[in-house]
Amino acid sequence: MAYIQSFRAAETVTGSCHLLHLKKGPKILIDCGYFQGRDEMRILEPFDFDPKQVDILLITHAHLDHIGRIPKLVKEGFDGRVIALRATMDLAEVILIDSAKIAEEDYKSALKKAKRSGQEKSLRPPVYSIDDAKAVFDLSIQYACYNKAIQLVPGVKVSFRNAGHILGSATIQIEFTEEGLSKSVVFSGDLGSRKDLIMPAPSFVKRADALYIESTYGDRDHRCLQETVDEFKESIINTLENQGNVLIPSFAIERTQEILLILKQMYYNKELPVCKVFLDSPMAIRATQIYTNYHGELNASANKQLLRDGAIFNFPYLQYSLKDKDSMLINKEESGCIIIAGSGMCTGGRILHHFKHRLWDPRNSILFVGYQVLGTQGRQMIDGIESIQLYHENIRVNAKIHMINGFSAHADQSDLLAWMEEFEKLDKVFLIHGEPDKQAIFTKAIKERLHNPVHIVKYSEKIYI
Ligand SMILES: [Zn+2]
Repeated sequence: MAYIQSFRAAETVTGSCHLLHLKKGPKILIDCGYFQGRDEMRILEPFDFDPKQVDILLITHAHLDHIGRIPKLVKEGFDGRVIALRATMDLAEVILIDSAKIAEEDYKSALKKAKRSGQEKSLRPPVYSIDDAKAVFDLSIQYACYNKAIQLVPGVKVSFRNAGHILGSATIQIEFTEEGLSKSVVFSGDLGSRKDLIMPAPSFVKRADALYIESTYGDRDHRCLQETVDEFKESIINTLENQGNVLIPSFAIERTQEILLILKQMYYNKELPVCKVFLDSPMAIRATQIYTNYHGELNASANKQLLRDGAIFNFPYLQYSLKDKDSMLINKEESGCIIIAGSGMCTGGRILHHFKHRLWDPRNSILFVGYQVLGTQGRQMIDGIESIQLYHENIRVNAKIHMINGFSAHADQSDLLAWMEEFEKLDKVFLIHGEPDKQAIFTKAIKERLHNPVHIVKYSEKIYI
């Protein structure tokens, strides 16, 4: 009998990795993600399966917590076929190679210091190199199209549907026949909200004998998107009018493009004070270009910008800081800047040097526009830490800290339930990609509204289909 094992994103939100063992047929891995926050060190643990034995890797989308362990998978012997949307692979290339580059550079400079103090032995090299990341794109890659089934082997097919989460994101349905019975397993991937600034609403699936659904926000509904956008605009306008600067730690994919879209709309609506907007992240600049390349997969409101002036995201105040020297030049600006830089959770990247120069000044604002995992510097600031250590300096946190809740690339409870209601036949529901307390609330909501059996998937347990 076929079964699935989840090697993380089981009772957690990161490290997504699910292995489908068919009785006869290929071994199919769905996602192979990185760990973040408290679980980060798990990356050092070996895989719970032999990467050489995996035949096919299906990728739901290009977020690091779904693709970040693929270079490690390849390094340890995976040589099978990869299937994903073309946009996903374009984004994955940027994310994996850039993150490997950053890790290598950080390691080199840390090694230099460690050698001086004689502590180089305690230093851990990056988990994968730039070459390891590049090797992923030498694999046999097959590009999927939404709503067109791919025959993997006779009797086993896979379909990708738009999950509305980020560009290229997909819900994956695997259909197979076993002992004369046809079965359908669906992995929701990360699902988007029905109302998103850039992405269309998620597409529906008709049938699932087993639905593996994400439950990140299964316990609640997001606040109204318009309220969120209004709060964001107000914080920007107030800071700029008070001669301050706005720092926005942002994720390279999706959130950055949403922020740019809002700023562009503010510009054309004459709501944005005269300012300089710096997109100070090579990764986000490249991702923004990829979003533009696949504009046909974005929603009507994003495409409206294209009709306005021939660009989705560009507007006259926006400058791209690709090189390090461009990033450093921003430090000379006294006031009137909006700086969008990574990393989204302030665990590294250029946002840190902007913090060093601007956190102490009460005229400035830090706008958090994304979830900050426990244990990250971003989360500490939201929780009210008075000073942080940066580049061996103690920096006081005097800038105003705003956590703008409500931006989310994830479906909330109402979105998830409404999506599930569209199934014509839905049997068992399995919860993944969520924290246990939230999953308990979501379980109750599903049972009350849909009356399906629900199971919270545990790490490595075998679920027979
Ligand atoms: Zn995601």
